[in-house]
Amino acid sequence: MPGFEIFGEEEKKEIMDVLDTGVLFRYEFGEQRKGIYKVKEFEEKFAHYCNSSFGQAVTSGSTALKVALTALGIGPGDEVITQGFTFVATWEAILEVGAIPVFCEVDSTLNMDPADLLKKITQKTKCIIPVHMLGAPARIKEIVAIADKNQIPVLEDTAQAAGARIDGKHLGSFGRCGTFSFDSVKTMTTGEGGMIITDDEELWKSMSEYHDHGHDHKVNPGARGGEGRRFIGFNYRMMELQGAIGLAQLAKLNGIVAAQQKNKAQLKEAVSAIPGVSFRTLIDEQGDSATFLTFTLQDRQHCSKVNDSLKADGCGAINFAENSWHFYPKWEHLLEAKSPVRTGYPFNEPGGKKRIVYDPKALPQSAALLERTLVYPIPIKMDSNRLAVMSQALQKASLI
Ligand SMILES: *Cc1c(COP(=O)(O)O)cnc(C)c1O
Repeated sequence: MPGFEIFGEEEKKEIMDVLDTGVLFRYEFGEQRKGIYKVKEFEEKFAHYCNSSFGQAVTSGSTALKVALTALGIGPGDEVITQGFTFVATWEAILEVGAIPVFCEVDSTLNMDPADLLKKITQKTKCIIPVHMLGAPARIKEIVAIADKNQIPVLEDTAQAAGARIDGKHLGSFGRCGTFSFDSVKTMTTGEGGMIITDDEELWKSMSEYHDHGHDHKVNPGARGGEGRRFIGFNYRMMELQGAIGLAQLAKLNGIVAAQQKNKAQLKEAVSAIPGVSFRTLIDEQGDSATFLTFTLQDRQHCSKVNDSLKADGCGAINFAENSWHFYPKWEHLLEAKSPVRTGYPFNEPGGKKRIVYDPKALPQSAALLERTLVYPIPIKMDSNRLAVMSQALQKASLI
C-alpha cells in the first residue's frame, strides 16, 4: 500500500482517454463522449473482479457506507453494530443516516468478535457492519450465519481489504453488500472514491438512483432512464477521471497483492526474532491482501519498550491503541457527543436529550489486545536497504 506507489503510463493513458473527449460526467453527453464510459466500465470490471453481480461507484468509502445503509433502509430508530476498532468513517456513516452505532469487541483476528456480536444484537439491530481491518478478514462466515439467523443484513466495510479473499472468495462478497474505498492511502487508489458491490439487483438499483439525486435508472440500470424518480436522493457520483484511474489501478491489484505478500513475508521473518511475539489470526493466509503486518507482544509495557527502540532507529510501528482515528476510547468527539449542529444532532434529540451515552471502558477485550499490538504498513515497493535497516532495528529490539 498505497496504490499511488505504482502510478504509471497506464493511469496516464486512461486519463487521456477522458480528457480527449472533454466529458467528465459519468452520464449523458452521448455523442461527445465517443462511447467512453469509464465509471460504468470500472463498476463492471470491479464487480467482475470480485465475482459479484453489480458494482456501484461513489465519491468515497464513507459515502459508499452511507449509500449502502440508506438503500438497505436504515434510519432513525435503528441500531447498527460495528466494531470498536475501525476508522471513524464506519460509525460516522451510521450516524449520518440517523441510526445509532453499537460497538462490538474485536478478537484475535482484530476484527468483529462473533461471541460479542451475539450479545449486542437487540430488536432494534437492523444492520451489522464487520470491518476487514488492515487488509485481513473478519470471521465473516460466522458473522453472516449469526446475521442470517436473526434476519439482519450484513454490510462488509472492505475499505482496507481490496484484493483479499477467503478460499478464493473476495471479501465484500459474503454479506448483502460490501463497500470499498479508493482514497489516497488505500491499496488501490483513485485519489478519492468508493465502490459498493452486491448480488442483489434491487438493492443495486436503489443505490444507483439514490446516489444520483433519485434519477430513475429504469431503462438501463447504471445509466439514466425516463427522468422520473422513486424517491429522494443526493449526489455521490464518481467522475470519469476517477473511473479512469480506477480501471488502471484495478488491472494492477493482483500484482500489488503479490508484491505485498512477498514483502510482508520478509518483514515477518525479521519480526519473528522478538521473543514472545505472536501474529494476528489470519483466516486464510493465502488470501491475505498483505497490506499490513500486525504483531502482538506479551504485554503493554514490553510492547511500548520495543516500539521506543524501533522508533529510535527510525523504524517505529503504529500502535492503534494510541492512534486517535481508529479506536473507540480515543474518539473523544464521539464519547463527548461533539457536533457542529445547533441542537447537538446526531448525538442529541432536537430537545437536547442525549440519544446515547458511550462508556470509554466498554471494550476491555479490544483494549487489552490493541495496547500490545504493533502494525507496519507494507509497501508495494520495498528496497533491500530499507529491509536491512528494519531487520537490524528489529534484531536490536528483540534483546529488550
Ligand atoms: C478509509 C476507510 C473508510 C472511508 O473511506 P474514504 O474513502 O476515506 O471515505 C471507511 N472505512 C474504513 C475501515 C476505512 O479504512
